Amino acid sequence: MVKVVKFGGSSLASADQFKKVGNIIHSDESRRYVVPSAPGKRFDQDTKVTDMLYKCYAEASEGRSYDKQLKAIKERYNEIIKGLGLKLSLEEEFADIKKQFGVKAGQDYAASRGEYLNGIIMASYLGFEFIDAASVICFDKNGEFDPEKTNKVLGDRLADTKNAVIPGFYGAKPNGEVVTFSRGGSDVTGSIVARALKADVYENWTDVSGFLAADPRIVENPKPITIITYKELRELSYMGASVLHESAIFPVRKEGIPINIRNTNAPEDKGTMIVETTCNKPDCIITGIAGKKGFVSISIDKDMMNSEIGFGRKVLQVFEDNGISFEHMPSGIDTMTVFVHQDEFVEKEQKVLAQLHRAVHPDSVELEADLALIAVVGRGMKNNSGIAGNIFSALAKAKINIKMIDQGSSELNIIIGVRNRYFEDAIKTIYGVFVPEQ
Ligand code: ASP
Repeated sequence: MVKVVKFGGSSLASADQFKKVGNIIHSDESRRYVVPSAPGKRFDQDTKVTDMLYKCYAEASEGRSYDKQLKAIKERYNEIIKGLGLKLSLEEEFADIKKQFGVKAGQDYAASRGEYLNGIIMASYLGFEFIDAASVICFDKNGEFDPEKTNKVLGDRLADTKNAVIPGFYGAKPNGEVVTFSRGGSDVTGSIVARALKADVYENWTDVSGFLAADPRIVENPKPITIITYKELRELSYMGASVLHESAIFPVRKEGIPINIRNTNAPEDKGTMIVETTCNKPDCIITGIAGKKGFVSISIDKDMMNSEIGFGRKVLQVFEDNGISFEHMPSGIDTMTVFVHQDEFVEKEQKVLAQLHRAVHPDSVELEADLALIAVVGRGMKNNSGIAGNIFSALAKAKINIKMIDQGSSELNIIIGVRNRYFEDAIKTIYGVFVPEQ
């Protein structure tokens, strides 16, 4: 059995956290390949090392003094080294970083040092081999990640390596220039490493015991999700449930490798398993509820719209021309409504309206702002009748007016639009329909 284990920033923020990680790794021999993040926050007001590095590099590239900032970063690492009782010095590494800052090695290079240095400490602490991600995570000359080349290079490099630490978040172009993924990208590295090894499981260790069926800031004590499919997760993450980087599922999905979200501070919890497909049915029909506020609906009315070929395309073209992506598009016989993000739309509002008039000559266009969308997601909804009915009657009883309903034919999710001010109550009400109070 081979497991790839990725540890997030809060799991590696201090020597004490490193010790927990060490215990987790040593308690299971199959945890052979480790992908660390940079040290994260030790307490609420603390700063992540990655943020310190961005700031430090910004000072350096503007020609200001950055000695103090670099020293503070060095102290973060030295504190960990000391707390772990290691005989390791990062002096040479820091001298090199200073040199590279001097020749303006780039913001990505600067940010990547957080993971790089943490990887060196982790390898020394565990007695594992250190593999610089720049040598195995390949980007092309335009800075795009090259998955197939990486899979080959990484697979070959790890074939005879029993245990290794590979820092997360970055790789390099063919000329050696360091490139990072987007923020939170160590999740992606872990997934890439798991794919290259055809690992049995990709364990992603963080500071929560997996996904919850609803946001705990809205619903009191929501049920943990034990199993979720990749597709369900996509729906929920898109609507704001954020535990994992959204690109992290793609590499492992290619090989059918499950992801197990685990909690470094509660290793006995089983966490959430993310799988391609499963016979396991959630005991309360739905898997989870998530939502977002801040949408605008643009309703376009025109008599005989349904017989006007190309109407929808012309409308969407206006949004495309203005760089606005649309979220949902419910329609009636003579109406078409487009839901967009309010913050993408407000500034361009009048321009979009004028262009809509020119493009399709509508009878009227109406706007409604401050709307929220809620996604009720669950593989258990398929072929189960009465689900939408139950949601709607519960919302009606709670006097919450539904502005929009959208159910895809996959029956994996139902999207409900309500006014922003009903958002929390609507989520609580829907949750109550599926998870009766104990
Ligand atoms: N350290 C990087 C960040 O803060 C990457 C990661 O933690 O996954 O975004």
